[in-house]
Amino acid sequence: MAVEQFRAFFACDRCGERYASKPWRSYYLDVSTEPPRKIAVQSRVAWCDAEQTVVTAERYQSPESSSGMLDFMVEHRAHGMAAPSGKELAFFRMLLELSERRESPPRCLGCGSLEFEYLVDESGRTSTVEHPRCGGVIRSVGLLLGGWDAPPERYYSTEGIRIDDLAAIERAVLIDVDHEDC
Ligand SMILES: [Zn+2]
Ligand SMILES: [Zn+2]
Repeated sequence: MAVEQFRAFFACDRCGERYASKPWRSYYLDVSTEPPRKIAVQSRVAWCDAEQTVVTAERYQSPESSSGMLDFMVEHRAHGMAAPSGKELAFFRMLLELSERRESPPRCLGCGSLEFEYLVDESGRTSTVEHPRCGGVIRSVGLLLGGWDAPPERYYSTEGIRIDDLAAIERAVLIDVDHEDC
């Protein structure tokens, strides 16, 4: 099945080194319920200091912003607009629940490090970082949007730690919204 996603490309303006974001599908696996639940990780492209490469990193989601999104969904209904589906409400409720429970700051999804800098800001604008190896500047050279065959999936605890609990992964129920072309 083709999955809508993007890859971001970056290059250093001094040494010419090139980097591309990795096409992982990342999910939190919440094993506090039975069956376990999984939900897509909200992430942004970043420069990982530990790995010295472009990665995706968790996007910080405060309980306030999660609860704001949930309120917005419910208000939609109050204003006579299309009511949020049960799936949408379940998705935003789970986002809120995870952000309220979360203890550690956002992590690099490649290595779990807390030392990274986002290369894309909240509004989707790209930013630059210094290339430690040469002192040049790493900047965006483009974005490729498209549908590729489903990329490999990676699973994380609700604290952003990589896990490989195959039994739990197989039983997990995906909590998702019907998001076509949003
Ligand atoms: Zn460089
Ligand atoms: Zn990393």
